[in-house]
Amino acid sequence: MHTESENSELPDHQISRGDPYDAVVVGAGLAGLYALHRLRGMGLRVRVFEAASGVGGTWFWNRYPGARCDIESLEYSYSFSNELQQEWEWAGRYGTQPEILRYIQHVAQRFDLLRDVQLNTRIVSAVFDAQRALWTLVTDQGESVRATYCIMAAGNLSTPRVPDFKGLERFEGKWYHTGLWPHEGVDFTGQRVAVIGTGSSGIQMIPHIARQAKHLHVFQRTANFSLPARHAPMDPEKERRHKAEYPERRRAAFETPFGMAGYPAPTKSALEATPEERQRSYETKWNEGGSISFLYSYTDLLLNKAANETASEFVRQKIRSIVRDPQVAELLAPKDHPIGTKRLCLDTNYYEIYNRDNVTLVNARRTPIEEITPRGLRTSQTEYEFDAIVFATGFDAMTGALAGIDIRGASGESLKEKWSAGPRTYLGLMVADFPNMFLITGPGSPGVKSQMIISIEQHIDWMADCLLYMRARGVNCIEADQQAERAWVEHVQDVANATLYPLANSWYTGANIPGKTRVFMPYVGGVHQYKRHCDAIAKNGYEGFQMRRVSSDAGRLTAEPGVSATPVGAT
Ligand code: NAP
Repeated sequence: MHTESENSELPDHQISRGDPYDAVVVGAGLAGLYALHRLRGMGLRVRVFEAASGVGGTWFWNRYPGARCDIESLEYSYSFSNELQQEWEWAGRYGTQPEILRYIQHVAQRFDLLRDVQLNTRIVSAVFDAQRALWTLVTDQGESVRATYCIMAAGNLSTPRVPDFKGLERFEGKWYHTGLWPHEGVDFTGQRVAVIGTGSSGIQMIPHIARQAKHLHVFQRTANFSLPARHAPMDPEKERRHKAEYPERRRAAFETPFGMAGYPAPTKSALEATPEERQRSYETKWNEGGSISFLYSYTDLLLNKAANETASEFVRQKIRSIVRDPQVAELLAPKDHPIGTKRLCLDTNYYEIYNRDNVTLVNARRTPIEEITPRGLRTSQTEYEFDAIVFATGFDAMTGALAGIDIRGASGESLKEKWSAGPRTYLGLMVADFPNMFLITGPGSPGVKSQMIISIEQHIDWMADCLLYMRARGVNCIEADQQAERAWVEHVQDVANATLYPLANSWYTGANIPGKTRVFMPYVGGVHQYKRHCDAIAKNGYEGFQMRRVSSDAGRLTAEPGVSATPVGAT
């Protein structure tokens, strides 16, 4: 694991003002800020561009009522500074959006990051000049900057999506998207409100809006599995123990599939247990709260349909026991996908909220929304009147942020064209034909299927070590090999196809965006397997990457013998 002191020992790079940056980072969320800190510590000259008016990425934008992380805060935090992880005090079991944003702002100040972050600036294009091995990035202000390395830390769930409903522009009330929530907050008191969407955002937000609104209609197209979060104030004894064990825990997290230690690995199949044993085990996990521990009940919940069905049915029964109206309960009980194959939601009193008189669940699968009207919306069956409509309709996930930038590689082809049949990366870290561009938690990496911050740190540390390796050999251009990329893309698909994940229509497959190519995008082999693979690749001289020195004076590429890594297939 990387530490602060390692960074500070590295010599400073002498670069005068006006020269290209060593690295430009796109995005000042958790990934962009750590990339800045790590690369700056290596003496690199780095500039970060951020479209928002503040740092924080997803935690800057998603300010909807009830927004909270579904991973415990003692886990969901940076590990790169022991002082930071020891000193920061979390208020509760799970970090709330305001608390996590405060934490990120604290990190930015503590490590003096803000002076290299340019806010309110969106990158609109990034073009690679193969002659000079330089990226030129253009901002929405018309500013142009050059850099040797381009680091895409633009987020996986950062491109909010409002479905193309006819008539939205004529709506006379107010409408909102969870991912673009007004900073001043919204008071729904006394209002007639519609929420469209029942993913993690909708499920967290709905109980809060229900308590304020005069009446809330929830438009559900697909029922989702949700487990109780069991949020609680931080237990001081648990915090003390966790902090004392932090170094070992963080190391142990890399030995686990989801990048989180402290959840005993399952030892047997759900089908080997008796129905009574299973019931006891699921009941314990349900009462403890949390999604990873629930999915860790047995070895095969994400691999075997029959095994999964035992857990899926347990949760359906819970829903039936909570929701008093049997028809509503049945509509809320998911039947179209195995539990855990879509992001498993965590909630606080979500199902209970449907017992209130001021909440109505609408089956938007049977009676789809056809248009937004000036006074509300119309489904195939009924016309409704609303003062406010809330879209909890998700994001153009994993590829949306990069698709919004005109990125052109060495051959001039755009990334959007290259990815038209689904994203192609080597390790989720680099893309063939796009030299010196690194992706943080990109498609093909386990990022979104892990404790995100552990993956962010692992990707950035791997990239930083790679740049140190290059510097030591006097090379300044690295590119993923086509063959290695092809093999990795196939490997990612093979691993996914051995699980139940592809059975769900989820944002993991692009299924939530009409017309988007359906490809399973994350690597689900686990953080442990992935890190081992990345480390082996580095140890073997960066197999599958080509490295060379580009002489900017000569204006052409000159391959340096002995530094090109050998192209290889993936595991
Ligand atoms: P999401 O999971 O993609 O859910 C979007 C919802 O909108 C789905 O219920 C979807 O229905 C519905 N929808 C989309 N278009 C619709 C239409 N035309 N008509 C009716 N319904 C429509 O998005 P999200 O809830 O924002 O969550 C995205 C991800 O962000 C999560 O999976 C999670 O990884 C992350 N997140 C995490 C937290 C947390 O840490 N607690 C909180 C929020 C989000 P279908 O399913 O039928 O498409």
